[in-house]
Amino acid sequence: MNELAGTILFVNYHHVCDDADLRFPRLHHITCEQFESQIVELSRVFSFPSVACVEGAFLDGKAIDTPACVLSFDDGLAHHYRNVVPILKRHRISAIFSINTGPWIDGRLLSVHRAHLLSAAYSYEAIAESIESSAAEFNVEKRICDTPIEHAVSQYRYDSPETAQIKYYLNAVIPQEVRGEILRLVFRTYLGDDREYASAHYMAREQVRELARMGHTLALHTHRHVHLASATPEHRADDLYLNHALISELAGPTRWISYPYGDTTSYDEAVVSLAQAIGCEFGLTMTRGLNGFHADCMRLSRVDNNDVVGGRRPIDWSSLAK
Ligand SMILES: [Zn+2]
Repeated sequence: MNELAGTILFVNYHHVCDDADLRFPRLHHITCEQFESQIVELSRVFSFPSVACVEGAFLDGKAIDTPACVLSFDDGLAHHYRNVVPILKRHRISAIFSINTGPWIDGRLLSVHRAHLLSAAYSYEAIAESIESSAAEFNVEKRICDTPIEHAVSQYRYDSPETAQIKYYLNAVIPQEVRGEILRLVFRTYLGDDREYASAHYMAREQVRELARMGHTLALHTHRHVHLASATPEHRADDLYLNHALISELAGPTRWISYPYGDTTSYDEAVVSLAQAIGCEFGLTMTRGLNGFHADCMRLSRVDNNDVVGGRRPIDWSSLAK
């Protein structure tokens, strides 16, 4: 493992839960036991320094002696407070929680989670027709079958080509300005009013404040989970400033942003500059890889928990070393 010395690995999580809601049998999640055993496995190779220590090491350009790991949790999910925090406490790990603030204001599901819950209840294939017909109501002319399959498959590596194509249509072909409303129509058809789900799905403000009090780090993740690079400059700035203001209110200004979606199309120079103007010094992407301590701090690599030991498709550590 010598090749890992002087590197830092960021690992990202979404749902961690045992009690999957029966309405959502396909919800992608790992159990609390799997999460805890993943921490144990990771700690055989990596140390878990505090986020403050990691910030200092990056800013000084001085590597932490051992291979280091930081866990991050995106989307402000209720599971994080309920299930993840007690396990982190047991292992004395401080982590990064990336928070969308929109649901606190309008009490609605983020459109990305309308899609997640729909697909957890019904499979993308089952709702594909409804997505297309709702899209047509918003004058989206393209059909799912027009979607380039090779792009779809490379973006959604864990899905079948059919599912990947529907997800790509939804997330990359349907314009962002109408996607939320289209999903609201589909959601209402299959599951009812999305407001009934929002309070159970997200951490409340007070819980997020409590995370910061416990020593965890909060990160921006946009107000409404916006694909920042494809948003208009006005929409992007309004959304990110609001996210920043609401998080600062709870825990002071943060130096971290996790770019929603995180692939290379989701952030660009303009997005990075805006985040820096707001005060961010560290940006988390979903580009798979390890980071050296001289890495570009606004474009840090990060892996999904499925990519590490105990995940669905663990990758060889040495293949990540630069
Ligand atoms: Zn997210």
